[in-house]
Amino acid sequence: MNRQKLSQFDPDIFSIIAKERKRQEEGLEMIPSENFVSPAVLEALGSILTNKYSEGYVGNRYYGGCEFIDSVEQLAIDRAKELFGAEHVNVQPLSGAPANIAVYLALLKPGETILGMDLSHGGHLTHGSPVTHMADLFNFVRYKTNAQGVIDYDELRDMARRHKPQLVLVGYSAYSREIDYRKIKAIADETESMTMADIAHIAGLIAGGRMNNPVPLFDVVTTTTHKTLRGPRGGMIMCKEKWAKVIDKSVFPGFQGGPHEHNISAKAVAFKEALQPEFRIYAGQVIKNAKVLEEELKKRDYTICFGQTDNHLLLIDLTNKGLTGREAQVALDAAGITVNKNMVPDDPRSPMNPSGIRLGTPALTTRGMKEDQMRLVADWLDTAVTHHASETVLQRVKKEIVELTAKFPLYA
Ligand SMILES: *Cc1c(COP(=O)(O)O)cnc(C)c1O
Repeated sequence: MNRQKLSQFDPDIFSIIAKERKRQEEGLEMIPSENFVSPAVLEALGSILTNKYSEGYVGNRYYGGCEFIDSVEQLAIDRAKELFGAEHVNVQPLSGAPANIAVYLALLKPGETILGMDLSHGGHLTHGSPVTHMADLFNFVRYKTNAQGVIDYDELRDMARRHKPQLVLVGYSAYSREIDYRKIKAIADETESMTMADIAHIAGLIAGGRMNNPVPLFDVVTTTTHKTLRGPRGGMIMCKEKWAKVIDKSVFPGFQGGPHEHNISAKAVAFKEALQPEFRIYAGQVIKNAKVLEEELKKRDYTICFGQTDNHLLLIDLTNKGLTGREAQVALDAAGITVNKNMVPDDPRSPMNPSGIRLGTPALTTRGMKEDQMRLVADWLDTAVTHHASETVLQRVKKEIVELTAKFPLYA
């Protein structure tokens, strides 16, 4: 076995990791789906658990030597149940997209109908975008948000009555409002549809008790573990006991092979962190910070889609600012602020050069930033957007940002 340190054996990879670490330390990470994991999560993720095959489930594996692996996976399951009040949990999905696919394949037959939100109104690729394989396999129909920017529950009911979907799907990646799960459940009950919530973005805010929790109400809830939940990259499925068998069979052997137990151990550590009282404070601060950004940006005449934010993110329509989402993303990158370009509701532009940007507060809040820093951030954002063609201004903003981030060290 090669026993050299990474820095000695592979200076190429070592130095790239060092550069990426510096980028993370010195920039303002505002992509709302990103976060920074704790050293404890990193330690579990980089552990020798990566060496072990363990196809199957706790107490029922195809391989020998799984006694410790079983303990790891059981702890992850028990903690997730406690966090969300779930009846049954599968922690094996490799990421959010495979978790969703495993659920569709578990609950539906090819050709059956899923009622999900329009992608430009905040839905996710895996909810039926035409570029995905799932769009060939299932019949996706869509509801939207109304003029006030909230889910159009009346249209959702009409669509459900008209299309009789087997599955009603909620949960979004660019939508900033609270969700009325009871109302949606009542609509789904009327048409005898199953209910699925994909809480990939807001799982940490739900775990922290700051947003409505669909888990006690819905048939199935999927999530990622690496966004607001602040764990390693991965997925998870929670469901009612009556779906436990079909969900588990769909994940393995239906869809995946051996689970990644080093990753599952890191999920367990992250769940333990999320069960601490500090995490509740974290989740609350994430939302407070987003509200301050919203206020400050509204003062500067920015158009906040959906009217306002109730969670960790803002979708901003830049049409009145005279630049596209792509142009803003490039300028902000040069200034040291990382966001992503994003479609806005009924966007006349294309996904590669849309009208908006999406940004959020989970990663900055993990660094310890609060309301005062958000006011600075809003000002820098506005300066960079307004002077997007001026290298000098962008460089000056970047310098100020490096100075601020030095006061909020990450892994130092
Ligand atoms: C991020 C996200 C996913 C996909 O997760 P990956 O881990 O990137 O596969 C699925 N659904 C929603 C709503 C998301 O925001």
